[in-house]
Amino acid sequence: MASSASCIFCKIIKGEIPSFKLIETKLTYSFLDIQPTAEAHVLVIPKYHGAKLHNIPDEYLSDILPVVKKLTHVLKLDTNNTPDGQGYNVLQNNGRIAHQVVDHVHFHLIPKRDAETGLIVGWPAQETDFAKLGKLHESLKKELEQVENEKL
Ligand code: 5GP
Ligand code: ZN
Repeated sequence: MASSASCIFCKIIKGEIPSFKLIETKLTYSFLDIQPTAEAHVLVIPKYHGAKLHNIPDEYLSDILPVVKKLTHVLKLDTNNTPDGQGYNVLQNNGRIAHQVVDHVHFHLIPKRDAETGLIVGWPAQETDFAKLGKLHESLKKELEQVENEKL
């Protein structure tokens, strides 16, 4: 397991800093956020130190979403199966510009019970431009081919 002596979340995993722990597995640790945006704002982290998502091995990432799902049961966020009413957001920030403060990958599970609490999103959607999207798609397919070939 990669660990950083100076990382606050690595210290929490090791028990050097206290936390309000919820689910823990061999690869994942979850706990209450101490500055919640809504009641029962939870953080879910890999037991592997890496700042951004692409730094984390797949086996750790594979373990995380099932834990997030289990937490939706624990937090009773799974009782509403309609689009309206209570919901929740799963958020994972990478880099300062993307609002990341702690440089150890973490997934926020944030209850969204009303307009005032929880995640408030800015969403600067652009007009649909099929020509631009088509061009981008062609170049990304080439990148994708390269990435797939590199894997072999
Ligand atoms: P970020 O902005 O990096 O995505 O979110 C970092 C989160 O970690 C923030 O919501 C902040 O409240 C939380 N946080 C920072 N330090 C601690 C800590 O020592 N303990 C806990 N439980 N949460 C922390
Ligand atoms: Zn760490």
